[in-house]
Amino acid sequence: IFITFEGIEGSGKTTQGRLLAQTLKNEGFKVFYTYEPGDTLAGRYIREILLNSEIKITPLCELLLYFADRAQHIEEKIKPHLEAGFIVICDRFTDSTIVYQGYVRGISIDLIEELNKKLFSQFIPDLTVLLDCSASIGLGRNKKANKKDRFEMETLSFHEKVREGYLELAKINKERFFVLDATESINVIAEKIYKKVKSLII
Ligand code: C5P
Ligand code: MG
Repeated sequence: IFITFEGIEGSGKTTQGRLLAQTLKNEGFKVFYTYEPGDTLAGRYIREILLNSEIKITPLCELLLYFADRAQHIEEKIKPHLEAGFIVICDRFTDSTIVYQGYVRGISIDLIEELNKKLFSQFIPDLTVLLDCSASIGLGRNKKANKKDRFEMETLSFHEKVREGYLELAKINKERFFVLDATESINVIAEKIYKKVKSLII
């Protein structure tokens, strides 16, 4: 089973993804936790280009770098682990690309979906957890992380647009998306996700 976590900066994807992975491991499940972009050797170099604001890239170049990262990531990690019976938990996946590069940066969503269908159609998540909160709350949390990258320079309205994009996607893909209020406490959110996942496993 393939589970992805989506949401804006600071919505808690990494925290919740890791908590879920740990809880399921403690119960004896085989769990593989991973993230995009960058969780392969090639991906680390791709991530560097993506996050370095001094490297100028066009929107199309950006899109294809995300696809390149994903192609490597699927072959090297996601596919073998799914085939070996692991529960695969991925922090960001195709929905991030549809929202950031499509909905927000303006690349044709049809093109992104067409590429996705042609290349990765077997890798549609069984469940996508969307952690939803306002941009001001998410960004406020991430200040602590003191990140210095391309996205630091994006405005509040950019992140509000990302949020909107995710909520639109969730409306279109109701069966797959599980939308949660990311302002609730870590434990309350974790419990809701855990229950949802257990209902899928059993
Ligand atoms: O989730 P993580 O912090 O690792 O993401 C790295 C950065 O890449 C984030 O700032 C996110 O906004 C951006 N991103 C993006 N388009 C994607 C995926 C991530 O702009 N498809
Ligand atoms: Mg994170």
